[in-house]
Amino acid sequence: MKASLLESLLGRLLNHRVYTKNRNLFQARLVAAVLVIASVTAFATGIPLILMLGDPSGFVTFGFGIFLLILLIAFRLGLETSICFVILEISTGIHFLLCRAMQDRIDWPLAVWLTIFPILRLLYGGFRHGLFGIGYSFLLGIGMYLLESYSPFERVPVSEILSFERGVSFMIAIFIITAVFNALRMEAMSQAEQAANARTLFLANMSHELRTPMNGVIGITELILSGSVPDEIRNQLALVHRSGSQMLVLINNILDLTRLESMKLTLESLPISIKDIIEDVIALLKPTADQKQITLSAEIESTVPDVCLADPLRLKQIITNLIGNAVKFTPNGYVTLKAQKLNEKIQIQIIDTGIGISEEVRERIFFPFEQADVSFTRRYGGSGLGLAISQRLVALMGGKLSLRSNEGNGSIFSFDFEFTPINTELVNKKNSIEKPETNNPKKVLLVEDNDVNLFVALGMLKRCGCKVESRSNGKEALEVVQ
Ligand code: ADP
Repeated sequence: MKASLLESLLGRLLNHRVYTKNRNLFQARLVAAVLVIASVTAFATGIPLILMLGDPSGFVTFGFGIFLLILLIAFRLGLETSICFVILEISTGIHFLLCRAMQDRIDWPLAVWLTIFPILRLLYGGFRHGLFGIGYSFLLGIGMYLLESYSPFERVPVSEILSFERGVSFMIAIFIITAVFNALRMEAMSQAEQAANARTLFLANMSHELRTPMNGVIGITELILSGSVPDEIRNQLALVHRSGSQMLVLINNILDLTRLESMKLTLESLPISIKDIIEDVIALLKPTADQKQITLSAEIESTVPDVCLADPLRLKQIITNLIGNAVKFTPNGYVTLKAQKLNEKIQIQIIDTGIGISEEVRERIFFPFEQADVSFTRRYGGSGLGLAISQRLVALMGGKLSLRSNEGNGSIFSFDFEFTPINTELVNKKNSIEKPETNNPKKVLLVEDNDVNLFVALGMLKRCGCKVESRSNGKEALEVVQ
């Protein structure tokens, strides 16, 4: 149901807020734009005041311009947007009051600033910020009145610029503009959010539905290839198998990403050996590295626990993606994995001597479907989803994925993750109890309602030497068990 204007206003008052990535981007751009405009204006006003009119307040304005320039550089280097905005407000307030104390001509720009400020605040953060902006303008106005009483200079009375009636009607107008603008923005944001949710749901359903027939194609091809097939057909089937597998990887990646973005992916917590997982991935990718004559190795420090609780599948997925990329983008030299325990987390670094990544694309490649260059899909394959998924998985594991690289000088991808230490002996005992040694073929009851899946699973289980009985639904399966 669509929220009424009143509802959305009340919602805002109760701090019901929708955050989006675009909103952060918008805030950053707004602050940067305001900083640039303010510093340019400060220089354009300060320099003529000093040089042409010999007015001492020009030095305050000029100094203010330099201060804003430093703030802009700090912002570019990573100072947080909100802190930057607060510093801008305080410094601008001080600047205006100082100038007002020294000369009259500042009345007009100050009145404009008092008007514009609540609107900037509103654009920046919404309704409550707008209210904050009105409070700020109000305090600045009071500051002007106080200066009026205590300034040693001859002043034009502020009452000539701002009368009480004008002030009140002015604030009511801003309040109404703020409320209307905010309600419109809320609606736009919730529409954007609904569209994003619909997209996520569509992708999740579609990739899930595609997986079933794709598994059928790959599974049946595998079954045929395991028998005796003429060479020519074998080669053609191998191509079908490879293409199908690539397609399945893509479908699985899209499914993972949509689950991660809609917060529907949960991690498992199982006893794992990090060393085993790393060795598995190295063994999987060694043939590719050998083919390219690259050294692929791993250094695992003794501080890394033998066993701990974590999600083995997802950890393997991240390491496979990072080492896979490192091998793919390294024409010669080496790829090394280093694992160590750092600040109660496990840290893993993947170092390569490959083509490296330029500063310009370093942030971009963590977005879905982004590759360093458009020609990469043709040259190296891939879909640009691996890093986006890995970054989100690492965040879910309580860590951070970071990158250091220079174009042409290799890359270092590192990530850390939280783990729960466990008693190795207990795990070993448990495992030894759980593994009964028997040579008898396993009896399997297979329950599957999809004919193709049933056919594939039956064939594979039989190939593994299992005695299989199959049913097409749960009710029939229960009858067999009872
Ligand atoms: P994919 O490998 O499927 O293209 P990823 O999300 O895993 O997708 O990687 C995105 C892009 O990041 C790659 O296409 C490549 O441009 C760049 N990249 C990733 N890892 C490396 C690396 N080790 N060296 C150089 N470039 C890399």
